[in-house]
Amino acid sequence: MKNVVVLGSTGSIGTSTIKVAEDLPDQIRLLALAAGNNLDLLLEQTWKHRPVAVSLVDEAKAQQARTALAGVAEVYSGAEGLIQLATLPAADIVLIAIVGTAGLAPALAAIRAGKDIAIASKEILVMAGEIVMSEARKYGVQVLAVDSEHSAIFQCLDGKPGDSVRNLWLTASGGPFRKTPKADFAEITVERALKHPSWVMGRKITIDSATLFNKGLEMIEARWLFDIEMARVKVVVHPQSVVHSMVEFVDGSMIAQMSTPDMCLPIQYALTYPRRVGSERVQTNLAQLGTLTFEEPDVDRFPALDLARRAGEIGGTLPAVLNAANEMAVDAFVNRRLSFLGITETVRQTMERHRVVEHPTLEQLLAADAWARVEAAR
Ligand code: NDP
Repeated sequence: MKNVVVLGSTGSIGTSTIKVAEDLPDQIRLLALAAGNNLDLLLEQTWKHRPVAVSLVDEAKAQQARTALAGVAEVYSGAEGLIQLATLPAADIVLIAIVGTAGLAPALAAIRAGKDIAIASKEILVMAGEIVMSEARKYGVQVLAVDSEHSAIFQCLDGKPGDSVRNLWLTASGGPFRKTPKADFAEITVERALKHPSWVMGRKITIDSATLFNKGLEMIEARWLFDIEMARVKVVVHPQSVVHSMVEFVDGSMIAQMSTPDMCLPIQYALTYPRRVGSERVQTNLAQLGTLTFEEPDVDRFPALDLARRAGEIGGTLPAVLNAANEMAVDAFVNRRLSFLGITETVRQTMERHRVVEHPTLEQLLAADAWARVEAAR
């Protein structure tokens, strides 16, 4: 039985994590749950799963939760609440599925408290991959991937040493505009960008999948998670989203991990690792799927890939700047203050104006993040 803390339990990954826990009641106990602002869903989850502690962003909502859950669960709030949950003495693993950068501090707190972490929130490794991975080594804890691509690579590597790897291949669905001519990009609306062809996800990641910034963030994430230089992290477009990613070994052999797309699978693998536990949830019929196709990504229509590669290669504070500028730009796009093309352009200009700090401290990373938000907004 593993005691699991879920940060972001009311979101897309969070609710899938709860489904996995319901599938495996003898293996997974939901020890604590943190939401942003969705009090009703958090209360519903708490009544059903009886975690010992919960947390909400807003203190007023936490107060309401305290009244509703008196004698049932401890209720915390704000950034401190996330840290309280992430460091609970009984916790075995902390799954972080908060959108944005709020997951970084609890991730570091969990590592320093000796907890394994399962990361969905890409921002954590994109911003502070060097620090997070070095702290994880220092405290001897595991950093497990929840993202389907990184879970796939982890499963394909299966403990093989770094010198046996030629390249890591991240697959990309290509998003809703894979076939849209460049001339039509200026007309892309929020509604169209929110329709992803193969995955149902939160809003931010869905827009990131349309610009391909999502794949860019994943490239940087992979660089840190698997300790490999950016030049060996490759991307191939695979519209069916059945091959979740691949490892190309030095002898030319390629190993892929496949299944019909369902986030419950990588979540379950992260929570039950190193064991594989039986579940009927994911069934894959290759004959029915028929054809799997692969194509080169078009970096002319999707320059986000090159921007992310550059940020990952230069490193230092630049990936944090890319991430923060992109968050601001996506928010402006969703609120109809910026065009679709403006997202990538805002990130490019913010990156160009940034003076990179090499091997930054956490404070320098947070300062770069704050600077990029102001600059992107400007
Ligand atoms: P959602 O928008 O669906 O959910 C976000 C979750 O974070 C919600 O539970 C929200 O709470 C909570 N939250 C937001 N801000 C805070 C905060 N300051 N403190 C505590 N909780 C907060 O996002 P997703 O589940 O789609 O994505 C989460 C992360 O996982 C992202 O980084 C994304 O890139 C990554 N990811 C997602 C995948 C997917 O398939 N969805 C796949 C791979 C990675 P509330 O709703 O209560 O306000």
